[in-house]
Amino acid sequence: MPAAARVVVVGGGVSAASFAVQLVRSSLTPVDITIIEPREHVGRGLAYSATDPDHRLNAPLDVHWIDPQRPLELRQWFEAANVLHRDTGCRTANGQVFLRRSDMGEYLSAKVQAHASDARTGSSIRHVRDTAISVRIRDGLYRVTTEHHGDVAGEMLVIATGNPVPSLRAPFREEHRSDPRIIANPLEPDCLHRIPQTARVLVVGSGLTALDIVSTLVRRDHRGGILVVSRRGLKPQPQSPETLQAPPRLPVLTTDVPGFIESAPTRVGAWSAALRKEILRMAAQGQNWYQAFDPVRDVVWKLWPPLPTPEKLRFLRRLRVFYDVHRFRTPPMNEAMVAEAEREGRVHYEKATLRTVEAHADALKVELSSATADSGKWHEFDLVVNCTGLDSGSAWRSNPLLHNLLEIGMVRLHPTGIGFEVSEHCEALDAAGVPLPTLRVIGPPTAGAFGDPVAIPFIANQVRRMLPHLLGTLQSISLKDHTHEQYSIE
Ligand SMILES: Cc1cc2nc3c(=O)[nH]c(=O)nc-3n(C[C@H](O)[C@H](O)[C@H](O)COP(=O)(O)OP(=O)(O)OC[C@H]3O[C@@H](n4cnc5c(N)ncnc54)[C@H](O)[C@@H]3O)c2cc1C
Repeated sequence: MPAAARVVVVGGGVSAASFAVQLVRSSLTPVDITIIEPREHVGRGLAYSATDPDHRLNAPLDVHWIDPQRPLELRQWFEAANVLHRDTGCRTANGQVFLRRSDMGEYLSAKVQAHASDARTGSSIRHVRDTAISVRIRDGLYRVTTEHHGDVAGEMLVIATGNPVPSLRAPFREEHRSDPRIIANPLEPDCLHRIPQTARVLVVGSGLTALDIVSTLVRRDHRGGILVVSRRGLKPQPQSPETLQAPPRLPVLTTDVPGFIESAPTRVGAWSAALRKEILRMAAQGQNWYQAFDPVRDVVWKLWPPLPTPEKLRFLRRLRVFYDVHRFRTPPMNEAMVAEAEREGRVHYEKATLRTVEAHADALKVELSSATADSGKWHEFDLVVNCTGLDSGSAWRSNPLLHNLLEIGMVRLHPTGIGFEVSEHCEALDAAGVPLPTLRVIGPPTAGAFGDPVAIPFIANQVRRMLPHLLGTLQSISLKDHTHEQYSIE
């Protein structure tokens, strides 16, 4: 048996889970995978640590594969675990399942557990429950220093640090961070428990996280009033009629760039014009916008890299918000619950900009204005929930390991400001732009490079695409006569 190659993965969300499971399954030689993750379970990460029963996946069960070669696994787990029995509301009339994110988390950690020790090759996955803070290279090995457990060593390092935890941005001020009436991170499990039923609540942002928060409050029969504001007043779109009306079938992501985009110049303006034209053409044939949009979404990973940087920036500045509301869709259960509360006047959505927040002893005073007005109207709330989305551009600032990697020149920021520059095989480019085969980056920190590697099937497919190249790198490592050093973990 050749010596096992050691792969250290920093971050233990769904990207790490998909990577570790696929690597164990694909490698013909033993690989020791160590996942450094401070959370109790590997796989859950930011999105699937949710505990609230109303926080569900935003697409049907069957699209959430973590290994594209085994797309039916989640369905099999769902049936074997008899999830329907404990979550009778997870199914739509046509039989689609919108799983609770907490159940997805359970599935993910079970999958990693099931691959902790692989009898076929002797590969293993283990979890070091800690935070990685820095890295150095000694004797050809990465040595990742953790906060409490000393160093973890490996021949390969994979960055799977995901999305930054939501935090307050302007016009919130520094002192607001410690105000218990302002919920900075609505993804923190159970943070909504402290909202009194009669509190006047302001939700800032109207995307899927806002829908989750409002769903929870509506379910609890919140009586204090809920106002949801966002600058553009846009809400995420519902699922397509095909998803909600036709019998469920195994979804397939398109891999070919649609002809109407391929024939357009490589500019976001030209692409969005071509997409609009295609939508009109389809509408004339009785079809809907989803049928034109989805094939484009599926190949963003192909379209985005050759796009010139100024075009990428133009998209991020002007079009992304519109892309997002069409791309991330509502779980129908939440959509129905909140729509009913809106009709009853228990929830209001408004297009408005948050200008000022003042924390007074008796209330949070908030200035809201319409897009055109210079000054706004003042309102009083008892609680404010920040649902303005994930600030992917700032992830590295608050993450000591990413900060350190940048400092020592082992990675460089993507010119869009989102994540890091990587090769087509997810190799990090160092400060000089040289790809490092033993340092890989997967998932959201590659969003600047690939556009949209954010949802589960897209991350799983990204891992699948880079695996042959990565396995080649591991193969050359295991052929080397390296001494098997002990991990310096207490
Ligand atoms: C609220 C929400 C709902 C979503 N719903 C869906 C959905 O329904 N369907 C879908 O397909 N996608 C969904 N997504 C998108 C997708 O699943 C996420 O993008 C996914 O969370 C990315 O996984 P990840 O493992 O890369 O990152 P994360 O989930 O962010 O996990 C990264 C992990 O890295 C750890 N970490 C970071 N830095 C360090 C460090 N220095 N040392 C050790 N550990 C570190 C963190 O603790 C974290 O657990 C959702 C995302 C969110 C935020």
